[in-house]
Amino acid sequence: MEQTRAAALQSMIETPVDVLIIGGGITGAGIARDAALRGFRTAVVDKADFGAGTSSHSSRLIHGGVRYLEQRAFRLVFEASRERRVLLRIAPHLVRPLAFLFPVYAGGRIPAWKLRAGMWLYDLLAAFRNVRRHRWLRPKKVRRVEPGLRDRGLAGAALYYDAQVDDARLVIATIRSAARAGALVASYVETTTLLKPDGRIRGAAIRDVLTGETATIRANVVVNATGPWSDAVRRLDDPAAKPLLRPTKGAHVVVPRRRMSNEHAVTLLSQIDGRVMFVLPWGELSYIGTTDTDADASPDALRVTSADVTYLLRSANAAFPDAHLTTNDVVSAWAGLRPLLRQDGGSPSQVSREHFIEESTHGLVSIVGGKLTTYRVMARDVVDRVAKRLHELDGRAVAPRSRTDREPLPGGEAAELDVLVEAARARGAPEPTARHLVASYGSEAAAVLNLVDRERALGEPILAGRPEIWAEVTYAVERELAERVQDVLIRRLHLFYETRDQAHTVVAAVAHRMKKLLGWDETREAEELRDYFQIVERGRIKV
Ligand SMILES: Cc1cc2nc3c(=O)[nH]c(=O)nc-3n(C[C@H](O)[C@H](O)[C@H](O)COP(=O)(O)OP(=O)(O)OC[C@H]3O[C@@H](n4cnc5c(N)ncnc54)[C@H](O)[C@@H]3O)c2cc1C
Repeated sequence: MEQTRAAALQSMIETPVDVLIIGGGITGAGIARDAALRGFRTAVVDKADFGAGTSSHSSRLIHGGVRYLEQRAFRLVFEASRERRVLLRIAPHLVRPLAFLFPVYAGGRIPAWKLRAGMWLYDLLAAFRNVRRHRWLRPKKVRRVEPGLRDRGLAGAALYYDAQVDDARLVIATIRSAARAGALVASYVETTTLLKPDGRIRGAAIRDVLTGETATIRANVVVNATGPWSDAVRRLDDPAAKPLLRPTKGAHVVVPRRRMSNEHAVTLLSQIDGRVMFVLPWGELSYIGTTDTDADASPDALRVTSADVTYLLRSANAAFPDAHLTTNDVVSAWAGLRPLLRQDGGSPSQVSREHFIEESTHGLVSIVGGKLTTYRVMARDVVDRVAKRLHELDGRAVAPRSRTDREPLPGGEAAELDVLVEAARARGAPEPTARHLVASYGSEAAAVLNLVDRERALGEPILAGRPEIWAEVTYAVERELAERVQDVLIRRLHLFYETRDQAHTVVAAVAHRMKKLLGWDETREAEELRDYFQIVERGRIKV
């Protein structure tokens, strides 16, 4: 049994911490992990589930960022390429190499020579240590390897490599790694006020979202890692704080992969506005994204609109002329807000992806900008600041940097995934389940199967014909900090996104099992169902 939420919360309320991190997306999780590994008494809270914000609504890529070459953001590409290598090493089950095809067409916005030069640069900025070097494919070869692509005017394609990540599970793995290193972690805890008894920030008032109870946490340093909510939290410190963010909205739609028949991930230029977009494989599904538009709505009220869907489907249909995708093909959709740094002018796609750390006059440390891919570097830079501040406060020695680039994330200890799949099969898991377990849990797949050994029924599929098994619900609650039905179905198992009915038929059974595991009463069970179905309803695209 890992640290419980109740015990962590009690401890952070009772005894002051060195650093309190507000926000448990990938940025806050990364900071908590780094700070705890440096030996600081660390607490991290999130007003929702860990990763429920932008970090589970991304394009799921750990990438150098081909499109940043056009913006000449070479430093960012260099750094992101290095981080891709690090993440492939410390979480090989969650971060997987992915082959991309980038076709170019006669008269297109990017001519073949430019793409070829860009690809050399991409490999160079990765110090020629990308998964593999790129190759240039002539039109005949492109037709053979990706027959669904538009043929007219095809001038060739680059075959290059990046990586794909299970974004929500990367956050959970990172926060669990933080907890193992001693961080106190609690989801569904909202920061409502910052405490400034003598003008300096010395902690925060919090509200337990699940019980409504309030309390305070005392901290030497408070870090604001709330992504698109950063300006709102900065205003808790200084109501007149000028915004640091220019959030942009990005939407994705999920369709059955057989409708696109795409073999590879495909990088394309939208026929509508020439923007770089992706069609990305995800098992038997493909997701298409993303849009990039200025967003004024609050991050809590974000929706995929019918205009988003139309843009994505029209762009994909132009690239795959036989797909004829319509809204009826859409299995699910998601949208996120990029917490990008405010800059004057420029289109949303040109806003920088670099990060920035601000320290307010009262001492609030805020981090904005950045990407999933570079979260470890962002975390390191923040914890360097925290270490310096703690040194100034009480004269303690500045702790050396921690080895966050070497320590595997939970489940990432073994790089030989095929061996793990074989081991799971040998224990009786059918092949698709064995593959699914290893892709989700890595070396911890064995721990999920231990639950099945204890109770055979937990080896049954949650939904007939799919690889997920009931033991994963227990595992999500006991080991992966899941507190609510939505945590399990949306972010631990992804059934919300991967089934047409958003897992409607099993919601009650999942709630029932969680009731037993977490000791809920009937009222709480009913609330869980109501709230889940509200999310499903809110996610419906009005056409
Ligand atoms: C559409 C889209 C596609 C993207 N694709 C990629 C990609 O492929 N690769 C890549 O590298 N990057 C990608 N990004 C960028 C990346 O997803 C983000 O930079 C990253 O997830 C931001 O993480 P974060 O932790 O800063 O913010 P979030 O994940 O939003 O976390 C902030 C957290 O703060 C919590 N919070 C807010 N207010 C409070 C409060 N008062 N008290 C307590 N908690 C609070 C929220 O609940 C939330 O969980 C994409 C972004 C978008 C929008």
